[in-house]
Amino acid sequence: MTKRTTDRFTVEEATEIYGLDNWGNHYLNIDPEGHLRVKPHNTPGRGADLLKIVQDLEKRGVSTPVLLRFPQLLDGQVQELCGAFQRAIKEFKYQGIYRPVFPIKVNHTRRVVEGLLEAGWDHGLGIECGSRPEILAALALETPPESLLICNGYKDQAYLSTALIGTQMGRNVVVVLEKPFELDTVLALKEANGDVPLLGIRVKLQSKGSGLWEKSGGVTSKFGLSTRQLLDTVHRIREAGLVDKVALLHFHIGSQVTEIRKIKNAVREAARVYAKLNKLGLKVRYIDVGGGLGIDYDGSKTSSDASVNYGVEEYANDVVYSIQEVCNEEHVPTPTIVSESGRALTAYHSVLIADVRGVIKGTSPLWERQEEDDEVPQVVRDLEDVLRGISVKNYRENYHDAQEYRDQMLSMFNLGLIDLEDRARVEALYWEIAQRAVRFSHTAKFQADEFQELEGRLYDKYICNFSVFQSIPDNWALDQLFPIIPIHRLNERPTERATLADITCDSDGEVDKFVDLKDIKEALEVHSLVENEKYYLGFLLIGAYQDTMGDVHNLFGRVHEAEVLVDPEGTTVVRNVRKGDKAQNSLSLFGFTEQKLVPDVEHMLQERVDNGLMSAEKAAYLLDEYRESLQSYTYLK
Ligand SMILES: *Cc1c(COP(=O)(O)O)cnc(C)c1O
Repeated sequence: MTKRTTDRFTVEEATEIYGLDNWGNHYLNIDPEGHLRVKPHNTPGRGADLLKIVQDLEKRGVSTPVLLRFPQLLDGQVQELCGAFQRAIKEFKYQGIYRPVFPIKVNHTRRVVEGLLEAGWDHGLGIECGSRPEILAALALETPPESLLICNGYKDQAYLSTALIGTQMGRNVVVVLEKPFELDTVLALKEANGDVPLLGIRVKLQSKGSGLWEKSGGVTSKFGLSTRQLLDTVHRIREAGLVDKVALLHFHIGSQVTEIRKIKNAVREAARVYAKLNKLGLKVRYIDVGGGLGIDYDGSKTSSDASVNYGVEEYANDVVYSIQEVCNEEHVPTPTIVSESGRALTAYHSVLIADVRGVIKGTSPLWERQEEDDEVPQVVRDLEDVLRGISVKNYRENYHDAQEYRDQMLSMFNLGLIDLEDRARVEALYWEIAQRAVRFSHTAKFQADEFQELEGRLYDKYICNFSVFQSIPDNWALDQLFPIIPIHRLNERPTERATLADITCDSDGEVDKFVDLKDIKEALEVHSLVENEKYYLGFLLIGAYQDTMGDVHNLFGRVHEAEVLVDPEGTTVVRNVRKGDKAQNSLSLFGFTEQKLVPDVEHMLQERVDNGLMSAEKAAYLLDEYRESLQSYTYLK
């Protein structure tokens, strides 16, 4: 542990290093004390001080890791999206309206869905479901009267019956047909109930998305009807007398579409299909352009996987304009435009804060040998020579020599010819040479792969009290990048560069890629740890998908949560604290219920008491400890 640095460093520099002005959508700032603040749009003051919130929560027994949700950021996103569509509609004199729909799979958290419904009430925000359990949730929520309840996903009889409950409750339920056989299920429903929900048709477009979720679109995607299937389905719908039920045309080319061109192409293609269906006598009223509106996680405004080369404004303009253009050419009425933007509405609203528990050093300190000590093996002397001789001209060869000597040492060690002391000397020398070689490799025009990789191994690892698998699963599964930034000490120069390790016993539980404006960073700028002082990192933009995709690897469960508001006076209000899982909760998911665990352990302890191996008091004490441990948070205390 080293001391704080005192050289001059401004919060402007910190803002630049971490790029929050690029990816924060104006929700973030750093105050003069170097604390990260979240400031909802149209609120007075500097916004909520994350460090202060965490410290206050800690006093109330709610320790990190903790997830902070900002309902006002959900509202900000809803207003931004709906505002953009309203402006586009006005600008292009589009004859029709826009209806947002929230795909509930993006975040099932009840408070999040309710927050969105409240924010989008005046815009008639509806819900999209992809499974029967999701419909069950949607049916119980209060939604704006004119809003849509769109039902996608695999549909059996039970699914449709549940959807029909919604229709009969007076909701605008639209069941989207995406497989030819789903129509049979609908016809069976009609037979049995005399009524069916409104119908939509999901088409498989030639147009594809781009980015990590590209395969959701295109002709090989697992969703949607091909052109032949579409025509057959239309024919059968007509025969069944259900033409009037067809209300919506749907497509979805994948999430986080990185290029606006892909979206424009898909919308134009779908609008053509809409026009042709109209001419076939199907009075479709809605075009649903699905999800895909992306988030600029790295702030680069490019088509890299962590970014998007467009903004909400451009997206809305292109969707509205493209539909308008095709409808004008085809002389068909313009439909209500629906989008199922989930990521764009929720990504910003939550921040995970984790404390750093320690450092795994990337290198070991060089060991000083006394000159008169001539007992050392030749291999140590050879490495010392390599170290002495390394220069910008020969660093590559010298590094290769060092590798060879290290291997030689290992063979000797395995033969019993070298003791641990000398092994440690060789390792320290080797890492020192590696470090110098990396430094010299930066002088080359192009750093060789070998040294790039080596550099990655030389970074310190900061151990963070959280689980990648629970809190940012897409980082593990898809290498998705999320911005990460210390929430304090941002008025102090971050002197270290480190990668992050979580506390699971899984080597995949690491973060070693970080957002950067121009590239991907291999290490994050962090501060050196100060003894007896906590150091907190914030994981941002994790409000979309991560909440439900997270799992309980190593039985690390759900984290503590709290909602944070900034009131009209600019004061921060923390409410609805929800405690995370106790060990007992994670265990019971897998059949280890408290009701059985405690008596079982008690029984084993009693046996030791009976056999005279333990006192009854000791056994009672241990059982209490065990019970208490079951009741505690799954993360490090
Ligand atoms: C997942 C999904 C969405 C959400 O997409 P985002 O890119 O998060 O907006 C929308 N529609 C359908 C059909 C989906 O499956």
